[in-house]
Amino acid sequence: MTIPLHKAGASAALFALILLGAFLLVPRGGGGASPPLAVFMPYLLAVGGAAVAVVFRQAREFNLFLLLVLAYFGLGAYAWGPGAGQEGQLLLEGLLALLVPLNFILAVALRERGVLNHHGLLRVILLAVQASAAMLLLQLRPPALAAALHARWFDLPATGWFDLPHPGLAAAVAALVFLVARALLAPSVLANGRIFALLAALAAVAQMGDPVAARLWLAIAAFILLAASVLNAYSLAYLDELTGLPSRRALKQDLQRLGRRYTLAMLDVDYFKRINDTYGHDVGDQVLRMVAAQIRRTPGVRAYRYGGEEFALVFAGRDADETQVQLEALRQRINETPFHLRRRLRPRRRPENPRPRGNPRTVFVSASIGLAQRAAHHVDAFDVLKAADRALYRAKRSGRNQVVRA
Ligand code: GH3
Ligand code: MG
Ligand code: MG
Repeated sequence: MTIPLHKAGASAALFALILLGAFLLVPRGGGGASPPLAVFMPYLLAVGGAAVAVVFRQAREFNLFLLLVLAYFGLGAYAWGPGAGQEGQLLLEGLLALLVPLNFILAVALRERGVLNHHGLLRVILLAVQASAAMLLLQLRPPALAAALHARWFDLPATGWFDLPHPGLAAAVAALVFLVARALLAPSVLANGRIFALLAALAAVAQMGDPVAARLWLAIAAFILLAASVLNAYSLAYLDELTGLPSRRALKQDLQRLGRRYTLAMLDVDYFKRINDTYGHDVGDQVLRMVAAQIRRTPGVRAYRYGGEEFALVFAGRDADETQVQLEALRQRINETPFHLRRRLRPRRRPENPRPRGNPRTVFVSASIGLAQRAAHHVDAFDVLKAADRALYRAKRSGRNQVVRA
């Protein structure tokens, strides 16, 4: 069994669980000293995460890791360092409560354009400017600013562990609404990670009076971002972006875990090059999505995008007789599903005499399928796959749009 943590829903559950565990386990109001590793941990995770983000070219994540590093540095220097007065602490709390959520919004709102280029540099400069301004303010400590940042706008019951100054609380709510909306519009592991990382970072700010707890919360924020990056990288490596099906790399791994009874099939779209040449590559892509959707509807199948317009289908525990019936139905569905061409170049303004609306152009697609059941003479699953591929070749030679058994 595989647990699809790289999928948006499962990852949200994982991150929520981490946060819940932390909520239950992080000591509250305990005070005391942190062991050296705990002091080091937020840096380890955030700097390590920033390095990973450079490798994965995730400017947004890189931005957020840097933000966590700066926030942690600020806490160490101005709230927990020797000579840190209550005045400085209050000011820092007000600043962090405001700047952390606002920078989550900024990091995500800016377009993803890579880390090691001038767009990435601009992001670093934006953070550096804020950090410098914050440091200057923490030196000057204008009393009016601390009062403004701690303004109380409404009467809220004190929770004792998530009390943020109200301007910060407003920024936090805005950031959460923004991140949740984005995660709902375009679900992804990264989008989920940011939501839960923000919650953990806010918990650190709210509990900055207790260094042990605040450190742990910051470490958890960085850990969630890092876990999201790694799970996202898994999707990139093992999932085909166009169809959402697992890729050939995933097939290679899964073929080694099959039991003794199974049937494999190779499916290839007929005359696909002609579809591309006639209607364009975009239409070709849409056809591939349609074919993938039809394949998914086949009972008992685990389908992979083998490459180009070829798909590999694994039927674990099934013999060729059962499978052939399913595949014949699949071939028919693909052949009978009319594919409507969307008009690509719509006129910007409605023409004065609109042409009568005829039926949009439709294309019919067909596919050829070869299948092979595992037999005693097969060396391994790759051998069975080769047999299915030879059967596919025969299907092509005998006129396409048919299912042929090895
Ligand atoms: P046959 O019936 O013998 O299978 O002919 P065919 O035209 O389908 O096969 P051929 O291998 O000649 O052409 C496959 C084409 O698929 C060539 C390539 O440009 C196109 N292709 C590969 N990957 C993609 C993709 O991701 N999107 C689109 N639109 N086209 C792709
Ligand atoms: Mg092909
Ligand atoms: Mg083809």
